[in-house]
Amino acid sequence: MPEKSGYALAALRDRIDAIDNNILQLLNDRLDAARSIGRLKAKCGKRVLDSSREVAVLDRLMRANREGDLADGDLLCIYKNIISTARRLQQTATAPARAPSLYAVFGHPVGHSLSPLMHRAAFWATGDDGTYFAVEAESPEHITNGIRALGIRGGSVTLPYKTAVMAHLDDVDQTARKIGAVNTILNQHGRLKGWNTDSEGVVSALQAVTGLSNKDVVVVGAGGAARAAAAGIQEAGGQVTICNRTASHGVRLAEELGCSFSPLESLPGRGADILIHATPVGMAPQKSESVIPAAVLRRGMLVMDLVYTPMQTRLLRDAAAAGCETIDGSEMFVRQGARQFELWTGKAAPVDIMRLFVHAALKG
Ligand code: NAP
Repeated sequence: MPEKSGYALAALRDRIDAIDNNILQLLNDRLDAARSIGRLKAKCGKRVLDSSREVAVLDRLMRANREGDLADGDLLCIYKNIISTARRLQQTATAPARAPSLYAVFGHPVGHSLSPLMHRAAFWATGDDGTYFAVEAESPEHITNGIRALGIRGGSVTLPYKTAVMAHLDDVDQTARKIGAVNTILNQHGRLKGWNTDSEGVVSALQAVTGLSNKDVVVVGAGGAARAAAAGIQEAGGQVTICNRTASHGVRLAEELGCSFSPLESLPGRGADILIHATPVGMAPQKSESVIPAAVLRRGMLVMDLVYTPMQTRLLRDAAAAGCETIDGSEMFVRQGARQFELWTGKAAPVDIMRLFVHAALKG
């Protein structure tokens, strides 16, 4: 290495060493402050773990980091460790060690799933002892046998087993039976019960913005996601019309659910209060496309895209430009996961933390 470059390298390493010394000092100062907060809270009889404060801290840091090189996901990863250390120091009495409860997502393929990231964040935020992993399942029997054999407390089920797994469960919730698909399993001392929280995910995302009773709702698509959305919206009092490319698929779904069907081509001619998009168009390799002509989109309409990779789809951009209110697909994903967490643990889900981690992962 030429002498000049050698000096430059040594100078940069000195700079990094100096920065690390500063970081170390700051980390210790931060932990000292956190320990004092723990003592103060214990003195006042207040609960030490406060995940809403932690959400506020992470949220503020992500906003403050907008100009920096650090990706949101990396920032969350670093601060998750710092907050975990602070929590450990704050605990005056250590809880007796227990084996963690096991949870898993089963599917094929399952490597891309954001469920482990989201649920681990939820267990971390609530101080729960749950641990969540991803399993490549070869068949629906493997899922239920695996849950029983390993004593897994709760499972998420994803493609292609959402329907096939139902035959292997001891009990299926009524809404899941109507939808014909299960995405959540709870192990009640060896008895496996299935639910469909996809449906609740869509409904609660919509209800956070508007009521559904007697609303005219168009659902575009006739696959699994459309079926879950349409069934949930109907149950919540919405008037659903299915619009689909292949008429026979759309008519079959509409007949099964007892709602209307309208061909995809007739979309521009009809208004609706709410429009739900439930086809894969908008995801790679059709990222720049939308099956909904811009002429359909009118001010005052609420448009929800179930696609969440990417979060901002062509449809949502068109809808915002037309003055519609919009909901992206990550909201369904987070809310279906929050409901799973509640079914498994009986605790309120830390939705804000779950959303924060999912958004950071989706934004990259
Ligand atoms: P699916 O069962 O394969 O259904 C696909 C539907 O899309 C069918 O109705 C199909 O119509 C229609 N379609 C496909 N390509 C089309 C095209 N080029 N033009 C018009 N229609 C087309 O899929 P799915 O499981 O319902 O998933 C649909 C979307 O929802 C996916 O993007 C998925 O990622 C998303 N999703 C999101 C969440 C969430 O949590 N946000 C959960 C589940 C699914 P035909 O009947 O004509 O084939």
